[in-house]
Amino acid sequence: MSMNEKTYAVIPGLNMGLFTPQELSKIVAILTKYEVPMLKITGAQRLGLLGMDEEKMKELKTEILPLTRPQAVNGVHYVQACPGSQWCKFGTGDSLALGARIEQLSFPEPLLKKVKVGISGCRMSCTEPFVRDVGIFATKKGWTLVFGGNGGGNPRLGDIVAEGLNDDQVIELVRKCLTFYQQNAKYKSRTARFMERIGIDALKKAVLNE
Ligand code: SF4
Repeated sequence: MSMNEKTYAVIPGLNMGLFTPQELSKIVAILTKYEVPMLKITGAQRLGLLGMDEEKMKELKTEILPLTRPQAVNGVHYVQACPGSQWCKFGTGDSLALGARIEQLSFPEPLLKKVKVGISGCRMSCTEPFVRDVGIFATKKGWTLVFGGNGGGNPRLGDIVAEGLNDDQVIELVRKCLTFYQQNAKYKSRTARFMERIGIDALKKAVLNE
């Protein structure tokens, strides 16, 4: 991609923003070899490479992509997960393990528009689940699922779909919500606009068998 005639590339997921010092050393060695002028950690916890020559960028990508997580086919755009119970003293839910499973979700057809997922290991919600298409946070009772949030220029707080879910239940419910969205949203409509149109009661009726 190019922006203001300055070339840049976004390198896809680095394990939801988590990497070991050894993995970081390998990445830095590649970035140094190709003399990358500037880096940006994006809001999606990816690496943005700024000011790069287009040819060099192509070569660099062949070396760096094996160190990153492949993007899911017909899946979610990105998953942000906080350190959760594995690394944070406040964490009651293993957001990283759940995030790794949600990254693997795929659908028969491409999703209509970007679907961003934010998963937090406690109510403090460091990954901002209420302004993600799919937001999940842990409480002592289990996972809470929020759907249809959006940040950016036309923000919307997501609606709570269900609470007190275990890992399998929340993953299954995410699949159901996204399938319902896929089947009923207008072309290229984000989940926030879809939820404004149909409302939380209709979504719950469809996905919770109420
Ligand atoms: S959301 Fe909670 S568990 Fe996750 S990083 Fe923030 S404080 Fe820690």
